[in-house]
Amino acid sequence: MKTKILEINPKRIDLAKIKTAAEEIKKGNLVAFPTETVYGLGADALNEKAVAKIFQAKGRPFNDPLIVHIADIKELYRLSKQVPSVALRLVKAFWPGPLTLVLKKSELVSDIITAGLDTVAIRMPADNIALSLIREAQTPIVAPSANLFGRTSPTTAQHVADDLDGKIEMIIDGGKTKVGVESTVLDITAKPVQVLRAGGISVEKLKEVIGQVKISKELEEGFRSPGMLNSHYSPQARLILVEEKGESQVEEVRQLASEYKAKGFKVGIMAKEENQNKYNGFEVKVIGKGTELEICAANLFAILRSFDKEGFEIIIAEGLEEQGLGLAIMERLRKAAACK
Ligand code: AMP
Ligand code: MG
Repeated sequence: MKTKILEINPKRIDLAKIKTAAEEIKKGNLVAFPTETVYGLGADALNEKAVAKIFQAKGRPFNDPLIVHIADIKELYRLSKQVPSVALRLVKAFWPGPLTLVLKKSELVSDIITAGLDTVAIRMPADNIALSLIREAQTPIVAPSANLFGRTSPTTAQHVADDLDGKIEMIIDGGKTKVGVESTVLDITAKPVQVLRAGGISVEKLKEVIGQVKISKELEEGFRSPGMLNSHYSPQARLILVEEKGESQVEEVRQLASEYKAKGFKVGIMAKEENQNKYNGFEVKVIGKGTELEICAANLFAILRSFDKEGFEIIIAEGLEEQGLGLAIMERLRKAAACK
């Protein structure tokens, strides 16, 4: 299959191009497209055959459920059996945006989307290309991240092509994504509501709107139990994470980097801007200032991919503070670190 690349300027959307992409979705084909979080791999949510193609193209196991993307709030009522008032408060505060709600599913949602669960994950993305595509396709669109299963999520169309060229019909290139980490997944069928995945909307912001929020056990324990891992955001290089602990963090990173370098590995360091000059003699990539966690989130996946492109074998990553988007960043770094 030859994958078509369709460039669309997000500031001046060419509707004719969106219609071409929407036609592919209507035909049951796969189209990768930008959202504000990462690039998604889209298929018609109401066409089981199309949905199955996603798992095939990504090499994703069928026990990992997909998120349904909608452009109109009416779809929330069509796809879920029950919309509790807490859902409406969250929708009002955060949609369109990087928050996914897990609700009781309606008959319309097939088991292949939900991995057999009686719940469905739904979100409305805050990206004009994504919203126009869903509107023109006239159907909700399931869209996991547009990468091979287990690999780092894509934040540019080139990242998508690196993983999926020749496996999908089309990639819409709408430039670099803004948020850079996936959506927060919130189970509102649980009492109190529970964060299943940290993401683009911080726990602090959720608490401002709905008060009590539980953090899933897996998240709270910091993924120190690799058996619980399903997807792992993993670069090809081995990633070693050194948790945030002031000056001793720099010491430990330096020591690890020296050890692996002495053993003959090609070693890279992912550092905060304020620490970049403390690693003389090593190759350093800067994720951003430790205090600017939104910028760090936006840079994270592209940096991990660039280490891979340049053939690094070991990445020593400085951990960040676990507040705001720092929690989402650390969740992904811990998963990446746990996998090798
Ligand atoms: P991705 O599409 O790669 O961003 O991953 C979507 C993630 O959303 C899954 O890996 C699950 O963690 C979560 N998810 C989707 N549907 C459900 C559901 N019905 N219940 C709980 N979590 C879900
Ligand atoms: Mg993913």
